[in-house]
Amino acid sequence: MTKNAEIIAVGSEMLTPQRLDTNSLLVTEHLNLLGVEVVMKQVIGDDLERLTAAIRTAVARSAILIVIGGLGPTQDDLTREATAAALNRKLVLSLEQESILITRFRQINRPMARNNIKQAYLIEGAEAMPNPHGTAPGQFLSTSCGAVALLPGPPRELKPMVEHELIPRLRPVLPRHVIRVRTFRITGIGESDLDTLIAPVYTKYTNPTTTVLSSPGDLSVHLRARAGSVSEADALLREVGNPIAELLADRVYSENADESLEMVVGRLLRKHRATVSTAESCTGGTIAARLTERGGSSDFFTAGYVTYTNREKQEVLGVSRELIERHTAVSEPVAAAMAEGARRRSGTTYALSATGYAGPEGGTDFDPVGTVYLGVSGPGGTRVVRVRYGRDRDRVRLLATQGALDLLRKTLLKG
Ligand code: AMP
Ligand code: MG
Repeated sequence: MTKNAEIIAVGSEMLTPQRLDTNSLLVTEHLNLLGVEVVMKQVIGDDLERLTAAIRTAVARSAILIVIGGLGPTQDDLTREATAAALNRKLVLSLEQESILITRFRQINRPMARNNIKQAYLIEGAEAMPNPHGTAPGQFLSTSCGAVALLPGPPRELKPMVEHELIPRLRPVLPRHVIRVRTFRITGIGESDLDTLIAPVYTKYTNPTTTVLSSPGDLSVHLRARAGSVSEADALLREVGNPIAELLADRVYSENADESLEMVVGRLLRKHRATVSTAESCTGGTIAARLTERGGSSDFFTAGYVTYTNREKQEVLGVSRELIERHTAVSEPVAAAMAEGARRRSGTTYALSATGYAGPEGGTDFDPVGTVYLGVSGPGGTRVVRVRYGRDRDRVRLLATQGALDLLRKTLLKG
């Protein structure tokens, strides 16, 4: 039997644009390590009725409920009252907590305001979780099928409490479970095409769960398997992941969630002891920027030429004037000549080029705004691809940069 968790973050400030619930991310990370999946989370303002109703519904639905915040001494701190009401339990004054509070105020040499005594009340049957960094203790209540925990809102109080108090108490009430993940990072395919391709595989399984995340030109597929042991979970990841990997083939640029496309290109260049230079027009230097993002890129990167005008394409890269006049600067032959020019000038193993219409103005009937020619020149010759990226300038530039890096990656894989 697996156990699911819900999180409720309490505080009206997190319903404004000024504050974000960050605590639930930390809690989720720790729960996942225990094999507990967070299936739902809510942010609720400081309102007794709404909070009570939400807690009542959550405990009926999920084995584990974590309520964050609202444990302070003031009128708007209602978590204790709401939880007690939702569970039909009393709030009882803990003499031990009362004396801890009194001692704490004495230590910091401040008189204890009357309303602070609220923080010494525990839900009937709950255990206090000590809070060495603040005045409000957390509370942990074991229920017949799981647990309810109340945690303080300030992140510096919550974090140690999760690590030292909550997790050790949850572990014994949970079946032993592990969660293992497998990630595919993908480029060169759109989100809906990707899903059409792989959905027939992953929709047959609820474990692992599969999610597709997308940002322009960069997709990732995440498989999360839950099982009683690492080897069982890994077997599930292979069962679903291997057919997906086969369908995606070389569109997967990495299986490491933290490895970006430029990191993969850098790794391949190092492996081949190869170098690269760039000749960019419409991308304005962003291919070079990404190739040099990480330290140590001088191992493989030598120079980036941003040649925006025809004159610079001729003077810096040696593209002939006739070629530009005959084909225009946005053309297959010019993209090829730009890459060859950069390679010759810099003496690199490879060179990348990009020339296109990023928009909003420009373009021709044959090559409308969004058309980009990407070139790669290397020991095996020069290759140019023509791509169309739509009409949004930022997007065209981003996708062209991604496309050029991917062109080099694929060339390196073959070489
Ligand atoms: P409270 O629990 O209402 O006493 O909140 C104390 C402080 O912790 C306030 O500054 C809150 O904004 C902050 N806080 C409460 N809940 C969260 C949360 N889920 N994530 C980040 N900060 C929080
Ligand atoms: Mg609050």
